[in-house]
Amino acid sequence: MIQSLLIANRGEIACRIIRTAREMGIRTVAVYSDADAKALHVREADEVVHIGPSPARESYLVGEKIIAAAKASRAAAIHPGYGFLSENAEFAQAVIDAGLVWVGPKPASITAMGLKDAAKTLMAEAGVPVTPGYMGANQDATFLAEQAAEIGYPVLIKAVAGGGGKGMRKVDAAADFADALASCQREATASFGNDHVLIEKYILTPRHIEVQVFGDTHGNVVHLFERDCSLQRRHQKVIEEAPAPGMNEVTRAELCAAAVRAAKAVDYVGAGTIEFIADASEGLRADRIWFMEMNTRLQVEHPVTEEITGVDLVEWQLRVASGEPLPLAQDELAIDGWAMEARLYAEDPAKGFLPSTGALELFQLPEDFGRVDTGVHEGTEVSPFYDPMIAKLIAHGETRDEARETLSEMLEDSAVWPVKTNSAFLIRALDHPDFVAGKVDTGLIGRDGDAMTAEPEPSPQALTNAAMAMVPRSLQAGFRLNAPDVRTTPFLLDGKRVDVALHGPGTDEPASAMLVAESGSVWQLSPWRAVGAAGSVAGDGAILSPMPGKIIAVDVSAGDAVTKGQRLLTLEAMKMEHTLTAPFDGIVAELNASPGEQVQVEALLARIEAAE
Ligand code: ADP
Ligand code: ADP
Ligand code: MG
Repeated sequence: MIQSLLIANRGEIACRIIRTAREMGIRTVAVYSDADAKALHVREADEVVHIGPSPARESYLVGEKIIAAAKASRAAAIHPGYGFLSENAEFAQAVIDAGLVWVGPKPASITAMGLKDAAKTLMAEAGVPVTPGYMGANQDATFLAEQAAEIGYPVLIKAVAGGGGKGMRKVDAAADFADALASCQREATASFGNDHVLIEKYILTPRHIEVQVFGDTHGNVVHLFERDCSLQRRHQKVIEEAPAPGMNEVTRAELCAAAVRAAKAVDYVGAGTIEFIADASEGLRADRIWFMEMNTRLQVEHPVTEEITGVDLVEWQLRVASGEPLPLAQDELAIDGWAMEARLYAEDPAKGFLPSTGALELFQLPEDFGRVDTGVHEGTEVSPFYDPMIAKLIAHGETRDEARETLSEMLEDSAVWPVKTNSAFLIRALDHPDFVAGKVDTGLIGRDGDAMTAEPEPSPQALTNAAMAMVPRSLQAGFRLNAPDVRTTPFLLDGKRVDVALHGPGTDEPASAMLVAESGSVWQLSPWRAVGAAGSVAGDGAILSPMPGKIIAVDVSAGDAVTKGQRLLTLEAMKMEHTLTAPFDGIVAELNASPGEQVQVEALLARIEAAE
């Protein structure tokens, strides 16, 4: 068994690999860039080596630096994780040439599966059904258009070197083909340095079903059943599960046998995934499932397979890389229950899934009823340099419903702030009637995603609970004499005004601001302070500045008679205008504001004396 391991990756997968290596008594070495100096994987490894500046192409993607780090730390083996250098055959070869153990397949297997066209050709020869289409060398635009017409629209143009959902164009009609081809080629050149494409029949009602395979150096290959990754956004996986809903034993047996054939055809060693696309318009049928590509590495969603089989796939990787045979034979593997994984991203679905970066002042994920694989911790920064996936939440249950409900609860109990996450989006996706029914195809989010991406809002009850902790008892007492039991009072919620129903006595030690955590989202609530509508906090007629800002208009003079709700002055703060109005009928007894003046938070701007 290898005694030491360098992990050429970062984030959750680096932490995941370190965990198993440690359990196996293997010394771990982490590498890190400038941006990751305080990252979790650096904290958890036995040794660390700095490999350069933050951009991945100057650190995590530089093979020579990784190999030098392994030499310097006397690591015996390198695990590449996923992404970065994991499917780079040249790097795998360089690792082997340096006398190190490569935890992955042979470089020749990576090359054979590296380009989608060559892989499909090879698979077809091995008797694996492949997605119908053109996968030849002729890249002439007119010729490709003819092929598309022959395949029949809609078609999918794919960059042969593509990955991560990039370099793909769906084309619905011949008239759009030339433009789509040109734009796909441009993206392929920019992203992958290779403009070759293939054309596939676009499968209708598509479901993404993949099979986990495992080979060893003794010629054994097994499968560990299928995963369903059909819930996707822009060809990228959002929620994955195992097994696949609606899978029957006959189809499973044929699909998994095809996956094992595929792995054997490339002499496969280690963990790999055969991805298939299924036409699910009439359920899952073996004659409507086709090979799409092979990922020659550990997959992001591997935990769902671990949960239903009880196998630690990283342990198997390390054993196989050490020359041991597979720990279990095919007939010793079985499916136990159901598992589901959600990918938690630092992003803002309501703002077009814009990545959200910054310090994680609050980062709490529940670990008591499911598995959490994460690469960050409270107090660290989410940097803009890498993939924004910050954690994976994985639930296991006896049934699909049980796994789904547990996963939903785990997301509901998550609290991350001020970095935004997609947790509310994930909860809504898990709750979509088609997903609940197991009738998910890859287009679901494209069709119904708008409702899932709406900005989450706290419930009135959650707001009231938080607001009551900010209201001083003394002020409340005075108010209750002639006010109704429930009073609507303005507060600031993430900088925007909300009117909150208050009831109850208030508190002796009012908080100045408070985080409201509910249903997987977190907001900041702070007192509005200014006297707005009747029932406001400052019941004595004091008009206080709600935040630091600039007075942009004053509508009254000292001594003026004003009526309740009348505008007194306007403040500009946080790029917004805030109007301060009279809380009740009265006289402007005091006025300390003039246009253009900068004011501090809670400055007394005016005071209204109630009319007799
Ligand atoms: P899966 O999610 O099924 O494991 P993906 O193809 O989505 O597989 O890739 C896994 C990770 O690797 C993701 O973080 C993705 O961003 C990254 N990745 C995969 N292929 C590429 C590529 N060609 N270029 C850049 N990043 C990639
Ligand atoms: P990548 O290397 O980017 O992962 P894939 O070939 O695995 O590329 O395709 C990514 C996703 O695109 C699939 O999961 C599926 O949702 C969709 N897709 C791929 N091929 C087809 C097809 N022929 N018809 C319909 N959807 C497809
Ligand atoms: Mg894929």
